[in-house]
Amino acid sequence: MSKKQFKTESKKLLDLMINSIYTHREIFLRELISNASDAIDKRYYAAMQSGETGMDKEQFEIRLEPDKAARTLTITDNGCGMSASELESNLGTIAKSGTQAFRGEHENAEDIDIIGRFGVGFYAAFMVAKKVTVYSHKEGEDAAVWESEGQDGYTVKPCDYKPIGTKIVLTLKDDGEEDRYSEFLEPYRLQMLVKKYSDYIRYPIRMQTERSRKKEGSDEYETVVEDQTLNSRVPLWRKNKNEITKEEYAQFYRDAFHDYEEPVSTLHINTEGMLSYTALLYLPKNPPFDFNTKEFKRGLKLYANGVMIMEHCEELLPEYFNFVRGLVDSPDLSLNISREMLQHDRQLSAIANNLKKKILAELLRLQREEREQYEAFFKAFGRTLKFGVYDQFGANKDFLKDTLLFYSRKEDKPITLKEYVDAMPEAQTHIYYAAGDTLNQVKKLPQAERVAEKGYDILCLTEDVDEFALRVLESYQEKPFRSVSDPDLDLNTEEEKQEMEKRAEEAKPLLERIKTALGDKVQDVRLTDRLRNAAACLTGDEGMSVEMYKVLRAMPNGAELPMKFTLELNPDHPVFAKLPALDDERLKEYAELLLAQATLVAGLPLDDPAAFSEAVCRLM
Ligand code: ADP
Ligand code: MG
Repeated sequence: MSKKQFKTESKKLLDLMINSIYTHREIFLRELISNASDAIDKRYYAAMQSGETGMDKEQFEIRLEPDKAARTLTITDNGCGMSASELESNLGTIAKSGTQAFRGEHENAEDIDIIGRFGVGFYAAFMVAKKVTVYSHKEGEDAAVWESEGQDGYTVKPCDYKPIGTKIVLTLKDDGEEDRYSEFLEPYRLQMLVKKYSDYIRYPIRMQTERSRKKEGSDEYETVVEDQTLNSRVPLWRKNKNEITKEEYAQFYRDAFHDYEEPVSTLHINTEGMLSYTALLYLPKNPPFDFNTKEFKRGLKLYANGVMIMEHCEELLPEYFNFVRGLVDSPDLSLNISREMLQHDRQLSAIANNLKKKILAELLRLQREEREQYEAFFKAFGRTLKFGVYDQFGANKDFLKDTLLFYSRKEDKPITLKEYVDAMPEAQTHIYYAAGDTLNQVKKLPQAERVAEKGYDILCLTEDVDEFALRVLESYQEKPFRSVSDPDLDLNTEEEKQEMEKRAEEAKPLLERIKTALGDKVQDVRLTDRLRNAAACLTGDEGMSVEMYKVLRAMPNGAELPMKFTLELNPDHPVFAKLPALDDERLKEYAELLLAQATLVAGLPLDDPAAFSEAVCRLM
């Protein structure tokens, strides 16, 4: 049978494993044991689902077998096993979570550091083995064997491996004098590695060990062979909090949730009484690669007394906290609980309710005490929180409002709504915001000039959900939100207002002429006092701002949405003073230019860019 080639992306990772002169070589064992444990979980779970009760949890095990003479280390599990085609697809193409992230972020990075920090999976075997042979037998399928010596591909053949499960034989590398691989044949060393990396694995990891003891009633010694269980099998979350190190929490997180980064926060919650449960929750640093796709599954792992009964229990986590990874273990849950029942389970919703409060408290703690970390976190997940505010007609807005950060024009950094309000001058009655596509555009928005001049801060909104979220919030600490583009900014004193009315009255004939010239391209033409340096700007109306219009237009069928706004003119601008003297034709040209300018500054496309360009040239 001819050799098959590894897929390109797998090959890259594989090469890295084979060639790494790498000090964390020992993690190969953790990876293989963790796969074995996953496989047993799968088999156990399937048996439970099908109501097959003959399965006893105690019969599952993972076995290590070092053989110095043959220079092999064998790892056996009685998990779900793999069919020939699964061997091929699972081990021939490793483009799973870990690899994906790896490809994305570390294309050219040094290998040394990366590998230790992230789960490399099955291929880690090639860090210590020159040949890897995987015998596997899945229930109802023929057994098969996968074998590879690294770069030049692999083979898959039928074989007669009898037990259900998988047996992996590593033929260790031999580097002569240096002898850096033989340590993985030493029982005490393996024992130590299991303790270090895989202690909490729930299934027993066993190894036969030899021990010499005195023969009974004689002075002679005999060698006894014993089966020893190497791991304590206490899941991390069941250990005492003060016995767990930060590194152990992080290690567990990386293993269980396939992330290569450390979490930003870890929450270990133990509750006794009416509602007994343990929860271990993590806030990740970065979204998983599939976070914004349909493939992403939110939810927490659910355990009943240490046995996993569901991978992604959505009922435990509201959608706005979908970035939280973790698990819940409760002794009171039934093993055979169905999806259907879960949805109505009072206990579960009580747990979910508690958890969301703890998560909120942790977010706010982070925001208070580790601001930089929080800002980075918010960059990654803030959008989800803002959606949470806006979603369901604002049902959760009060719960979530303090988690939000918006960019402050004055402070030049992200601030909370509370920080905004606390810094407001006495006379300020509203929370002002300006929206646009980029921070730079928003900061330079002509509409913001007047508000800024008053000494008021402006929240700069650059994400499509931002303005929707603020509109749903309506106000914060009784200060209503107001867009700097709002038709009625209400910044003036009585005197100023009267002055403005007078000028509007005087300008009426001119504004009428301009409106006629522009026809149905505008809703209205009026004077404004919100501008300082700019001659004109565009504003929407109460119902829809320019920014909201942009968001809606980007949606399916949105292109048909008619674009019609109000053109506001700055009466103090030199251009404005020239307008009354122009004849109708000239005035039309000027008006169209002003409208085009305002449209561009608002970040909207021009209807007829060629005409605009010609008009500018004519004037020049
Ligand atoms: P991951 O564990 O992150 O999915 P790995 O590279 O460790 O990635 O393993 C790749 C896949 O190979 C696993 O997802 C699993 O389907 C399969 N696999 C690996 N080891 C075993 C095993 N001992 N028993 C059954 N399937 C296994
Ligand atoms: Mg794995």
